[in-house]
Amino acid sequence: MIIILKPDISEEQLEHLVAHVESAGLQTHLSRGTFRTIVGVIGDETAISSDRLRSFTGVQDVVPVLPPYKLASLQAHPQPSVVDVNGIRIGGGHLGMIAGPCAVEEEERMDAIAAAIKQSGANLLRGGAYKPRSSPYSFQGLGEEGLKILRRVGDRHQLPVVTEITDPRNLDKVLQYTDMLQVGARNMQNFVLLSEVGNTTTPVLLKRGMSATINDLLMSAEYILSKGNPNVVLCERGIKGFDTLTRNLFDVAAVPLIRTLSHLPVIVDPSHATGRPELIPACAMAGLAAGADGVHIEVHNCPEQAMSDGPQALLPEQYDVLAGQLAQLATLLGKNISSKSTPSGEGS
Ligand code: PEP
Ligand code: MN
Repeated sequence: MIIILKPDISEEQLEHLVAHVESAGLQTHLSRGTFRTIVGVIGDETAISSDRLRSFTGVQDVVPVLPPYKLASLQAHPQPSVVDVNGIRIGGGHLGMIAGPCAVEEEERMDAIAAAIKQSGANLLRGGAYKPRSSPYSFQGLGEEGLKILRRVGDRHQLPVVTEITDPRNLDKVLQYTDMLQVGARNMQNFVLLSEVGNTTTPVLLKRGMSATINDLLMSAEYILSKGNPNVVLCERGIKGFDTLTRNLFDVAAVPLIRTLSHLPVIVDPSHATGRPELIPACAMAGLAAGADGVHIEVHNCPEQAMSDGPQALLPEQYDVLAGQLAQLATLLGKNISSKSTPSGEGS
């Protein structure tokens, strides 16, 4: 890191600062300019707190050279990571096509949706059994019964499953049934939950909080990675905007931006990002074109009866058209969509 000093720093204050840095086992390199003097710090930056350095008298600013998300950073791992979700790869040229209803409802309905999305080329089935709802009076999910339905339906259609974990107390239960844990936008900074999922090896779909910066998202990923779970997939799902015509503001630039900062796979969720079925195809295509490693789309065969997020659900026939277009785009981009029934992983 680089410490920028105030012009009026005294020699005594400078010596005090340098002694502090060196006592942490780091080396210093002083560079005296005409107007400013800077101190280059050489060694493991994590050995010293930049906030503490900022509080020294005579220090103007501290500029870290390495990002604070050490394990999530591209420097730590220059090659793109590939996350394997029970045989379905996401990242490094492999696309995760996650689809399914917002919430797990009756088994028959889940079965019909799973059959349809599988036929269209989806390779992962989603469905929430624990729903984080804004109102305590809204449907909260079927709980363990929902997990059982999701597992049975996923197995029947050879689709690995993704479901949300909202509470660390449910982790052991959810792990019995799922192939991938979703940490939702509202829990992106639930650090206890992040640490707990980090103590497992189950892949985690980490959704960006609606007011979270990319830095915040990568720091949350760091929580999971630092506990030892390397299987993290990031998800851009829209952030709060001022326009009320869409549910959120789809930040498509987040995808190529994350690419410059991190090796972790990143997918897009145009369903929650827009909240409007008619906008989902364009945003899904844009996300893939921007370099996303997959798309996450809510599909329901009877949106007016959906227990949650019905207004943003695509009908299976709409998803089918979109999935066909996404597959064509994937070919153009030289990416592939693997599925459990085509283990070679080629084509969709
Ligand atoms: C969901 O996937 O249904 C969901 C609640 O997503 P988010 O956390 O992005 O709002
Ligand atoms: Mn939803």
